[in-house]
Amino acid sequence: MGIVVQKYGGSSVADAVGIKRVAQRIVDTKKAGHDVCVVVSAMGDSTDELRDLAQQVSPLPPGRELDMLLTAGERISMALLAMAIANLGQQARSFTGSQAGVITDSAHGRAKIIDITPGRIESAIADGAIAIVAGFQGVSVDTKDITTLGRGASDTTAVALAAALGADVCEIYTDVDGIFTADPRIVASARQIPVISFEEMLEMCACGAKVLHLRCVEYARRYNVPIHVRSSFSQKTGTWVMDSSEVDLVEQAIISGVAHDRSEAKITVVGVPDRVGEAARIFEALAESGINIDMIVQNISAASTARTDISFTLPRDDGQAAMTTLARLNEQVGYEQLLYDDRIGKVSLVGAGMRTHPGVTARFFAALAAAGVNIEMISTSEIRISVIVDEDRIDTAVMATHAAFDLDSAEVEAVVYGGTGR
Ligand code: ASP
Ligand code: MG
Repeated sequence: MGIVVQKYGGSSVADAVGIKRVAQRIVDTKKAGHDVCVVVSAMGDSTDELRDLAQQVSPLPPGRELDMLLTAGERISMALLAMAIANLGQQARSFTGSQAGVITDSAHGRAKIIDITPGRIESAIADGAIAIVAGFQGVSVDTKDITTLGRGASDTTAVALAAALGADVCEIYTDVDGIFTADPRIVASARQIPVISFEEMLEMCACGAKVLHLRCVEYARRYNVPIHVRSSFSQKTGTWVMDSSEVDLVEQAIISGVAHDRSEAKITVVGVPDRVGEAARIFEALAESGINIDMIVQNISAASTARTDISFTLPRDDGQAAMTTLARLNEQVGYEQLLYDDRIGKVSLVGAGMRTHPGVTARFFAALAAAGVNIEMISTSEIRISVIVDEDRIDTAVMATHAAFDLDSAEVEAVVYGGTGR
């Protein structure tokens, strides 16, 4: 039997009991005849706690040092897990990201994997040992400094390693039984999705579903690594994320799920002169500041004023920088006013079936209307419809949409086993 890569999230290894439980599971997999490579996250909320600690000594810690600090979280869990496995009589060797051959660029806090050279992992496995790798970290090819890949990126480490090792599957263990049709913390009757295509999962992640890291799904699609998302607290089959050609069309629902996102803000540039090149000027300036834009809406200009309004959404964390950039631009553009609103949320309906089924948009908007939710902005892709609504209306909008597409399950399926949701 081939190699299995298993990734355990922070809530699965939150304490000694959790580590021992996970160790047993890994040993069982090994005893079933598989070669096993494990990727671990830091215990519980310890990454957040390390960040808080850094804040207490410096409001703006140098990226290099912050990465050095945060990677310590995963070193703790990987060593403890290796010890727990050894205690069960199996060989285990832990490796930092750097030792595991995770080579990145040098962008601290959001480094990208450039290459994986898993020689030491392969020799550990060849020796019959279980390899344990610290998630979410690597080493910069240029500076040789330790880097981190961004919050939640242990998933990406796992899929990247699975691809490099030619693993049969990447199992991602979390604190819920799989991927649900909506966040079970909001919709108690959310249903577990048996299988979902990479494309749909990418849309779900891009729209705020936190169960998987977006880059891990991009990686899995590029290298065609099937992902099995399941709970480390139960033995149930979870959700398979795989190539759409392997998703059984009979089983395929029209709508896969409803995602929501509370991390965006909306900026409106009021009274932009309706001239060729103004929109380009605005978005070039934002691009130069490294700000990613999500939705954009431009009104038709009023004939009397020859001016138009341009609204767009962006990550809240970039709100201040965007406002500063745009304020500086006004000498050239000559707009009338700049409005900032971060009391918004995005609700998205995702499903490959909407390509071929008419009326999905109408049903979505009718559900929102019946629930008294006002739509502020709309954007679509081939397999997604997203709306911006008032922050206080997100939960209502998610529940109403979920019900309107008959996604509610008759019995409560979703069990949230752990995690503080921090
Ligand atoms: N420990 C890191 C974080 O909390 C990485 C991960 O959990 O995937 O973001
Ligand atoms: Mg995670």
